[in-house]
Amino acid sequence: MNSEIKLNGIKKEKNRIIYNYETNGDMSNYLFNDKPFYVEYDENIEKVPDSILIVPFICNVLPIVWITDATLIVDKIDKNFYESIDKFKKGYIDMYPQIKFKGKIKYNKLEENHSKQKDKISAAFFSGGVDAVSTLVSHINENIFTITIWGADIKVDNEKGWNVVKQFICKNSLGVENQFVKSSFREFLDESKLTKLVEKYANDDWWHGFQHGIGLIGHAAPLAYLYNIDNLYIASSYTIKDKGKVTCASDPTIDNYVKFSDCHVIHDGYEYGRQEKIANICTYRKKIDKDIKLRVCWISDSGENCNHCEKCIRTILGIVAEGDNPVSYGFNPDYKYIKNYVEKKCYFNPIIYPIWQSMLIRFNENKDKLKDNDYIQWIYNIDLDKLNKKYKAFHKRVFRFIKKKIITMYKFIYNQ
Ligand SMILES: [Zn+2]
Repeated sequence: MNSEIKLNGIKKEKNRIIYNYETNGDMSNYLFNDKPFYVEYDENIEKVPDSILIVPFICNVLPIVWITDATLIVDKIDKNFYESIDKFKKGYIDMYPQIKFKGKIKYNKLEENHSKQKDKISAAFFSGGVDAVSTLVSHINENIFTITIWGADIKVDNEKGWNVVKQFICKNSLGVENQFVKSSFREFLDESKLTKLVEKYANDDWWHGFQHGIGLIGHAAPLAYLYNIDNLYIASSYTIKDKGKVTCASDPTIDNYVKFSDCHVIHDGYEYGRQEKIANICTYRKKIDKDIKLRVCWISDSGENCNHCEKCIRTILGIVAEGDNPVSYGFNPDYKYIKNYVEKKCYFNPIIYPIWQSMLIRFNENKDKLKDNDYIQWIYNIDLDKLNKKYKAFHKRVFRFIKKKIITMYKFIYNQ
């Protein structure tokens, strides 16, 4: 049977869209029947044309359509968006040469859409992390607002977690307006099944490697029409130096080609490493002479930085390397703990290693400025190469130990 997904219509209820679709063939294996795809905005979206309102849906099913060679059937579709699809699809094809991206889209009508608003505005996806804050700082002089999506990192049923994030964003987005979007875009599809489908060919999971870039971007389409967004920024997580080392669904070869209405997307800050982004934020903070709270922690679920994980530590030290005080950025550093952590526990993978290298370069460049900071002088004795070799050897030993245990276990079972 041919694999297909047909969008029968959309239900608009003030600020909420619910997509009514049906699937046939292979496509049915990857979408849940009992979990609808809905999106909620802060604004009433009933006046936004359907050909724009379907963009969040299309962006989130397209990678599945391509990989399963399915047909996507829709009624009306935004002309600019439709014409951009093959261009951003090429980004996927080049990123994953081992995977065939096929599939097709059938539509009844291409519709050209222009916002009713005369003045143009910019928007930036915003999480409060180093990448997002650096992007916001870089474009703060434009007429700009932020967009944060509930349903990306925080699950749609985690109201408590979301409220913490929302409050943080409202207080710490440098005085610009915020738009919040709630979406079930990670709930309506079977992420683990899709990861299994691609992991044979790609060293990545579905969300990170295939969905999250255009998946997030698509949600801005109705806002782009309502507010006449021309520049839509999505902050880069990686840098041009990582090219070829990592795969990621949010990449300049994909994001920069997405268009809808009169809006185009900019994968922002790709030319800068993390330390340069920290320097950018520090320069701005000193200029405005106000605290800028960062939300960087991977392990804390309270919304606060834990101050103890590798990411918190590298951000704290990155700020110190720029001659600024991490307390002004929402950290509460324990330098004794940090010294011990770096010397004894810190492990640098190939992506993190260059970040630490750049940070140490900045420590050396600012050595004179930092000479009175007694609590940090130990950093000048750190031998990154030596530490990295030590931890590589440690990880190899752990791997060998686990392998040996597994073999012993199999032998035991087999002999039984
Ligand atoms: Zn942390």
